[in-house]
Amino acid sequence: MERTQRRSEVIYLDYQATTPCDRRVLDEVIPYFCEEFGNPHSVNHIMGRTAKAAIETARSNVAELIGAESPEDIIFTSGATEANNLALQGIARFYREKGDRIIISEIEHKCVIEASRALERDGFDVIRIPVSRKGIVDLQVLEEALSDRTLLVSIMSVNNEIGTIQPIAEISEICKRHGVFFHTDAAQAAGKIELNAFQVDLMSISGHKIYGPKGIGALYVRKKPRIRLIPLLYGGGQERGLRSGTLPTPLCVGLGKACEIARQEMQSEAARLAQLKEYFLSVLFSNLEKVYLNGDVDSRCIPGCLNLSFAGVEGEAIMLGMPEICISSGSACTSETLQPSHVLRALSVREELAHSSLRIGFGRFTTLEEVKFASEKLVEVVNKLRQMSPLW
Ligand SMILES: *Cc1c(COP(=O)(O)O)cnc(C)c1O
Repeated sequence: MERTQRRSEVIYLDYQATTPCDRRVLDEVIPYFCEEFGNPHSVNHIMGRTAKAAIETARSNVAELIGAESPEDIIFTSGATEANNLALQGIARFYREKGDRIIISEIEHKCVIEASRALERDGFDVIRIPVSRKGIVDLQVLEEALSDRTLLVSIMSVNNEIGTIQPIAEISEICKRHGVFFHTDAAQAAGKIELNAFQVDLMSISGHKIYGPKGIGALYVRKKPRIRLIPLLYGGGQERGLRSGTLPTPLCVGLGKACEIARQEMQSEAARLAQLKEYFLSVLFSNLEKVYLNGDVDSRCIPGCLNLSFAGVEGEAIMLGMPEICISSGSACTSETLQPSHVLRALSVREELAHSSLRIGFGRFTTLEEVKFASEKLVEVVNKLRQMSPLW
């Protein structure tokens, strides 16, 4: 496959933030803007039916990627943020009479944390369970947090900062045993690891994390046995009444195509990314001391995501030293101060090491040449900064 989609003057190693839209996705999408523009809900004429048919093909492809039993289990949304909000708020508000406790982990994506915070303000009892130093939820702690007032457990499949994979099958088993709904944010997992929707009640995915368009995602909501939700949006009653609004045909088609490609290429891609990661780490570890891998050093981690701390230097300073390489630092600018990420804090990474961290993500269009260049550049910049640093 051609890996020349990117701008040639930069090296993009931030695939957890977003991915480029695959050209094959774009080619599939284009006709649905100007030619096949019918309203997919106007099924009484040919234009509407053509659009609807394309959407239903896409829905099947989404269902197939995540292992859903039926395409009817898939609700299109504007992205994983909306899907996560619909899952958490929708369940909490529909089943309010049955309980008030929601359990999430400390390392969830901001949108899950903030959606649960909104529920907390409305009187729900939100429990945030800690993770191990490797970033994995402790099943015993989870089980202890469950009460007969618990409605929902929401634990992400793969973390977006450290790439760790949660034990979804085991969590599923615990939730089933306690009769609690289980939602998983699979935005970083879809297309990277095999997903089994039957293990969960609700699952969120995002188009732009899997080489599809931005502004589209989906929520898997198991239809049989039926799960009820209070919608976030009211209107024409599209998407089983759970998500009103005219479906964006091109975006839905794009998500479907992205899922189809991901399903076909997942295994070979994972193997290739594992090799790139191994190469990258070997360059760093053989040329630098005091580099630490955050997250799981063993295998419970997706191959395309690395989170590393470089003792004695700030992540932000490293990024400034190599502006041609797009990566992400482990600190987020909130107001005037640089805060270490909540994920690294949950792993008990020491504050100065959290400020020294970088997230490096490889993906479909990353070449060995780029990985080589980036690893050597990183070694050079870290060495230079350490020489100037009074802390080193
Ligand atoms: C990107 C991401 C989201 C948000 O997805 P959008 O489609 O951008 O709203 C949610 N959760 C995780 C884990 C993500 O990586």
